[in-house]
Amino acid sequence: MYLSDAYLRHFTARVTATREGAIALDRTAFYPTGGGQPHDTGSLAGLRVTDVRKEVAPEGSSAVWHTVEGGPLPGVGDEVEGEIDWERRHALMRTHTALHVLCGVIWNEWRVPVTGGNMEPLAARMDFEFDPVPDGFGQKVEELVNAELALDRPITVQFLPRDTAVHDADLIRTKVNMIPESVSEIRVVEIVGLDKQADGGTHVRSTAHVGRIRVTKLENKGKGNKRVRLEIVDGESSAADATGGQEETS
Ligand SMILES: [Zn+2]
Repeated sequence: MYLSDAYLRHFTARVTATREGAIALDRTAFYPTGGGQPHDTGSLAGLRVTDVRKEVAPEGSSAVWHTVEGGPLPGVGDEVEGEIDWERRHALMRTHTALHVLCGVIWNEWRVPVTGGNMEPLAARMDFEFDPVPDGFGQKVEELVNAELALDRPITVQFLPRDTAVHDADLIRTKVNMIPESVSEIRVVEIVGLDKQADGGTHVRSTAHVGRIRVTKLENKGKGNKRVRLEIVDGESSAADATGGQEETS
């Protein structure tokens, strides 16, 4: 459910399996750790969710396992309620979108691809193939990213057939052709007019909802690998988006 609606924070689902301290469901809004984005927390069947992992079985089927504290666990077939810890999730959505804006800006300005990244709520790092980093880079990139955030660019999620996605010129730089052939449909997250990539993460609706960013550190991680660390700071729209996700009236 998190793939089609990032703003869904309360849901019901049926238990499909249980094991010691963990529950699997027929559907879930809990984001499992992956793609650099950490898992959600929250409550499920009245129990505290402390970890969420997607497990793929050898034959290819997958399940999202919710690690819970306490018990007793619900039974298989039971209908249960889930509630996402929204403060954490919304912070991660803002952070994840900020990283895509950073990728788009660095590509547009310097034509340099990203090599990796990771995030926690409101703080992140991303590595780029710079060699060396241009003079005044930290301040310049901060200004460029904040200008893009202020433009209030909408963010869309689409599910494209693999054939369509691998021939999309905007997706080629993010190595969409590396996605296994067994994947028939590719989820594409687009920051309209700035960045488009195959992605499984959760994002805010518009760049203005991120707030602003601050570059906190630049690190040299070796030849052709430079690390940008940033933090996300509140803006007008980010607070409004967190409390109910209302669209701005101005
Ligand atoms: Zn992403």
